[in-house]
Amino acid sequence: MSTDYDVDLFVIGAGSGGVRAARIAAGYGAKVMVAEEYRIGGTCVIRGCVPKKLMVYASRFADAFADSEGFGWTLGSVSFDWGKLVAAKEKEISRLSAIYRTNLEKAGVTLVESRALVEGPHQVRLLAHDRTVSARVILIATGAAPFLGPEVPGRDLAITSNEIFDLPEQPKRILIVGGGYIAVEFAALLRRLGSDVTVALRGDNILRGFDEDVRCCLRDALTGSGIAFKFSDMPRGFEKKGKAIEVTLANGERFAVDQVMLATGRHPNTHGLGLETIGVRLDGVGAVCVDPYSQSSVPSIYAVGDVTNRVALTPVAIREGHAFADTVFGGKPVAVDHAGIPTAVFATPELGTVGLTEAEARLKHAIVDVFKAQFRPLKATLSGSSEKVFMKIVVDGETDRVLGVHIVGDDAGEMAQLLGIAVKLGATKAAFDATVAVHPTSAEELVTLHTRTARYEQVQLDPGEAAALMDEERTP
Ligand code: FAD
Ligand code: NDP
Repeated sequence: MSTDYDVDLFVIGAGSGGVRAARIAAGYGAKVMVAEEYRIGGTCVIRGCVPKKLMVYASRFADAFADSEGFGWTLGSVSFDWGKLVAAKEKEISRLSAIYRTNLEKAGVTLVESRALVEGPHQVRLLAHDRTVSARVILIATGAAPFLGPEVPGRDLAITSNEIFDLPEQPKRILIVGGGYIAVEFAALLRRLGSDVTVALRGDNILRGFDEDVRCCLRDALTGSGIAFKFSDMPRGFEKKGKAIEVTLANGERFAVDQVMLATGRHPNTHGLGLETIGVRLDGVGAVCVDPYSQSSVPSIYAVGDVTNRVALTPVAIREGHAFADTVFGGKPVAVDHAGIPTAVFATPELGTVGLTEAEARLKHAIVDVFKAQFRPLKATLSGSSEKVFMKIVVDGETDRVLGVHIVGDDAGEMAQLLGIAVKLGATKAAFDATVAVHPTSAEELVTLHTRTARYEQVQLDPGEAAALMDEERTP
């Protein structure tokens, strides 16, 4: 591609969105350079989805060992070695990071290991090399960083998800602050690995924005697994006491832990990047404001992924990066559809969801039908485990279209992926009912759930109820 600039495209950040955008743009013939200040692969590969899921797998052996006796197994003593898991995890993410690097090289992308700052609409400064590169288009794909929440005394004693993956020792006692994805996933996995886990959050339930029933169902299951929840109760301060940290909660309760992990959300990584100086519009939390094609208020600057604070999930960042490259370098304008994105919370039990919550559906549709089931999975009959599977289908009562499906139970994330296709296609409840079951599975309940649990017609919400429903409404 001919250009008056050093490169056609400069990508800041070699994470999920940036790497995809760089590779696809290079495939269209663009001369592309990518800067990365930390490790190639970004949050998902290095300290997000992948190492987290490996730890979730590790934690679930606890259930497998416990369940096995009912199926005739006798186990000797079992033990868990945190150091061994951390080392194995490190080996795997290093392998993946190397693959990301190779793929960029194979695509002809130039990789620069440096922090990069934006100096102008077409200028990027590479700090490690003390050099400025000019680019026809700049893509901001710098992701997000942990937000530390309220500033309380001793907050610097706490860690975030960035550090938890590489702790030299498993915390025997941990306080997790927050009630979102990260808090819930780490609470669940650490509890199963044997830690004493307390979770303190400002809300009165976990996972705001998810369907009320699955929130309650998962909260009850996690409470049953031994996690101590402190609802509507945030820490007032932390104090070092020998090797331990003494926590004081707002209600005055004090207790000692080995680690405190703050999981109070993540904010876009734009601080000090130079964007405001050149007129790029940012929102209140520092996210780059973009149009449906990921273009910012400065025409030569685009942004994708977590830094835009649209839907902070890896597949979304990848999709946005790809769409950006198609639009700007492939001559095919593509706007990413952010509706109906399936998602999972990898707690144990797992939560999988797609589409509207019941609350959202009741706000948007005149008639809403709800189908629910809660049952003991077949495996639990012999294992003796008290686990339950919960499933809920939310249907537009006027068109019979399935608006949302919400599941708590084994493989809920896997189910959500496939249900996402049906919901995207606009499947009706009648189509679910016409589908023959796969037996014996838990998922078969989704196509045999014939009896309606409730119908909500022309709901006239009082202002308080409407406000409560609106509060819940947040795309997970
Ligand atoms: P990132 O992948 O974060 O990449 C941004 C990159 O930019 C980073 O490598 C950073 O070092 C680099 N960078 C930043 N500033 C600069 C600069 N100035 N110069 C050079 N480089 C810079 N999502 C899921 O879909 N499923 C999950 O199971 C899941 N689990 C998660 C678990 C955890 C603990 C966390 C924290 C996140 C998880 N996510 C998950 C979210 C997912 O990781 C992010 O949505 C995704 O990584 C966003 O991709 P991105 O390209 O926008 O940013
Ligand atoms: P979430 O947005 O999921 O949760 C943030 C939590 O912090 C909420 O409980 C929120 O409370 C609380 N919080 C926010 N601000 C404050 C404050 N000022 N004071 C007290 N509490 C506060 O963020 P996470 O950090 O858990 O994860 C970041 C994102 O990464 C997720 O939103 C998700 O997009 C992605 N992710 C995806 C995963 C997956 O796909 N499985 C796994 C992990 C992360 P409240 O609800 O009251 O606002």
